[in-house]
Amino acid sequence: MITIKRPHIENRNSSYYVITEISSTTENISKEIWYRTTEEYADYLVDEVADAFVLPMLLVALRNQEDIKVEAPISEKLYYNIKNNILYTLSIPLHVNYKINVDCEGYVTPSFQPTAVGCGCSLGVDSFSAMIGHMSADCPKGFRITHLTNFNVGAYGNDFEKTEQFFHEALPDVRKYAQEKGLPLVLLASNFGPFFEGVNFNWCGPLRTMSAVLSLQKLFKRYYYASSCTNKDFNFGMGMGDFASLLLPMISTDNTEIIVADQDKTRIEKTASIVDNPEAQHYLDVCWKRIKANRGDTRYLQYPYKNCTRCSKCQRTLLTIDILGYTDNFKEVFDVEYFKQNRDEIVRNYVARKDENHHFHEVYQFMIDKGYPIPQERKKKKIKKFFRSFLNEIIKKIKRIFNSAF
Ligand SMILES: [Zn+2]
Repeated sequence: MITIKRPHIENRNSSYYVITEISSTTENISKEIWYRTTEEYADYLVDEVADAFVLPMLLVALRNQEDIKVEAPISEKLYYNIKNNILYTLSIPLHVNYKINVDCEGYVTPSFQPTAVGCGCSLGVDSFSAMIGHMSADCPKGFRITHLTNFNVGAYGNDFEKTEQFFHEALPDVRKYAQEKGLPLVLLASNFGPFFEGVNFNWCGPLRTMSAVLSLQKLFKRYYYASSCTNKDFNFGMGMGDFASLLLPMISTDNTEIIVADQDKTRIEKTASIVDNPEAQHYLDVCWKRIKANRGDTRYLQYPYKNCTRCSKCQRTLLTIDILGYTDNFKEVFDVEYFKQNRDEIVRNYVARKDENHHFHEVYQFMIDKGYPIPQERKKKKIKKFFRSFLNEIIKKIKRIFNSAF
């Protein structure tokens, strides 16, 4: 049984927390779990309902096949969706029984009357595309972004003390960008890590991040989740971003509407929509170096550029920018000279990985469509590849003979 105590708000060293105690008998864990924000947004923290704490724990409950007991109310709309849709949807990629019991101290519909429209400001491609699209005059006024946010809720890793350092390193640029746009920046952190040890953030990230938004339901009437794929690429794999457009609207409450932005744009289309934007050319930050360092792989930290230009996320982004013809515009944030000197090798590696997932494949297809020069595979590699496929065929044949013998 997972037990979530009634949350309460506390001021600790000039930061403001909404805190609860969560225990799991299966995991033998009992932890104080919180969301933390700055004094400016303290009045917007929600302790009337336990929504922000219940949602991430649904994943833990499904994994452990544990029921949940919440010693506080849940928003009525969210309670309805948990019972009818959310548990079922989350269970599909996990291949587990979804009939988990979520028992709470009733359901309520508080009227917080929030007015803000929020969007995450990570300064990556998805984030930039969502921000630019929803700040423009083309966007209806009620849907236009009024607040940018930056959350430390697990993207950098589950060890909160360690992630704080990387979070603060990335913050100055985020602050500067928000200042330039004349928008307030909402900072929020949470410490759910102990319940997600060993779980890839790609799998739990969208739900954990949007749960954090629900800790500020008094502030946000709408909040954009920057989609990582189009609905055409929708799938129930192990990346939650791939089915976010179905899942995340289900966690909306009567106070806060969660909207998945850019459901119609591929990563290439999003990149194309920001390449001529001077702010993107100055601030774009896609690199995995901090995330990888938190997992113990520190090799990318040595490169002085904001984007190391060596990790696969940097290379995918700069390759797309190169196909679009804007490489030199991104000199400030990428090691463009390194990219140019190693372009053939980078393209060859990329082509070799084209079937790994839809992101790789769409860039490969884009190269073909644009007639981008693809260097020949090196002879040695070609020979190696030939022998590998030859060997695989022999193994397959042996297996077939072996199976038919029984
Ligand atoms: Zn990188």
